[in-house]
Amino acid sequence: MPVSQLVTRPWPTLNGFSASATRASTDRRRFHAATLLHEKVNSPSRSLQQGPVDDASRKALSEIAFAFDIDGVLYQGQRAIPGAKEMLRKIRSHDIRYVFLTNGGGSHEDAKYKSLSKRLGLSEDEDVIRNRVILSHTPMRGWDENVKKQGTVLITGSHPEIARRVANEYGFARAVTPADIIEANDKVYPFDNLRESLHKESRPLPDGKIVSNTIDPYSKDVPANALKIDQILVWNDPRDWSLDIQVIHDLLISHRGYLGTISDKNGNALLPNNGWQQDGQPQLWISNLDLLWKTEYPVNRFGTGAFVEALKGVWAASTGGAELQFSALGKPSQHTYEYAHDRLLHHAPEEPHGKGQKKRALKRVYMIGDNPESDIRGANEFAPADGTEWISILVKTGVWKETAAEREPRYKPTVIVDDVVEAIAWAMRNEGVDVTREWLASEDWV
Ligand SMILES: [Mg+2]
Repeated sequence: MPVSQLVTRPWPTLNGFSASATRASTDRRRFHAATLLHEKVNSPSRSLQQGPVDDASRKALSEIAFAFDIDGVLYQGQRAIPGAKEMLRKIRSHDIRYVFLTNGGGSHEDAKYKSLSKRLGLSEDEDVIRNRVILSHTPMRGWDENVKKQGTVLITGSHPEIARRVANEYGFARAVTPADIIEANDKVYPFDNLRESLHKESRPLPDGKIVSNTIDPYSKDVPANALKIDQILVWNDPRDWSLDIQVIHDLLISHRGYLGTISDKNGNALLPNNGWQQDGQPQLWISNLDLLWKTEYPVNRFGTGAFVEALKGVWAASTGGAELQFSALGKPSQHTYEYAHDRLLHHAPEEPHGKGQKKRALKRVYMIGDNPESDIRGANEFAPADGTEWISILVKTGVWKETAAEREPRYKPTVIVDDVVEAIAWAMRNEGVDVTREWLASEDWV
């Protein structure tokens, strides 16, 4: 539904804007209209600078929410965006719903909230960030309890042992790391260069299971104590690609996820995907597909998506070109937007995971991000069943830069603004609540 039909008080300058602020705003003309709007929006319709928000504004703000990306949005490199801290305090004090939606992962949400508070200069006991952080793997918290309690998962990532502990806290009762597997049977991987570092911490396999190397790999008469993996979870960017690709490949060619077996369906041209991944093998879940990420180094670094490309390459080579079947979380995956939307509808940051029983409808959610391929694309493509509109705002403080070759990003946002403070000002004005950047970035609490 066009924005102009939804704003609490239709605003004259929005009349020509209905197309540009909708989710479908992907063509060139609309994009320019949106950018133009941003430049026009200067005349106040209602001022918040002089005091508390009035009732009409309060109602308008109670029907919207914000989803903030973190890296490149709340800070640029190591430097917090000026005014971001004050802006967050301000929207918190006005009871506006918001979450932080990041493709980062590999740690617990509370660890991320603490580090983000510190980087923004907020104290930990300020109720601004806690229970609002959604990491790439956080949606797994909401997985079916039977899957978490009954099944066995293989988990890997930058720090598999930390990932396991977080997965245990999510409710996954049996989480196995690559280190557990090579500790259980060193024939799986005949190299020991990382045994004293990355793979140093291991635990016995659950329920007394073993990794046997005496099984005929094609036999379906699998011993009762053979390790069976039901899901593979790549939590974030793995460090030992060699071992991880080996073990994941072993499982994807196995009979029903029993390590050390080989499915007799592999390569059967009469079956879908030539029989590959057609024999009850574990599902492969990747927590995000970001190919690159930005560090202090001048050239972008490889992320989890690069690992997936390497795995796809090996898979294609070993299967004669079969498709690697997997599911992805993280932006732009719709699983992640569904999860974030549900959290915002049941917003309860006083609860441990930010979700309460009570549901409050939303009219619009504004996604503020720096990455067109993930933040913007995901928000543009997301169409929740309840009809809420997700609007994408691109900031210039992160990975996207306007260059002579790329004047506009491939995935076009509703609007491009300088930074996150400007993004919130734009969104609030779009709701008919006029605010200035100065007010949002000021220390005043009203
Ligand atoms: Mg970012």
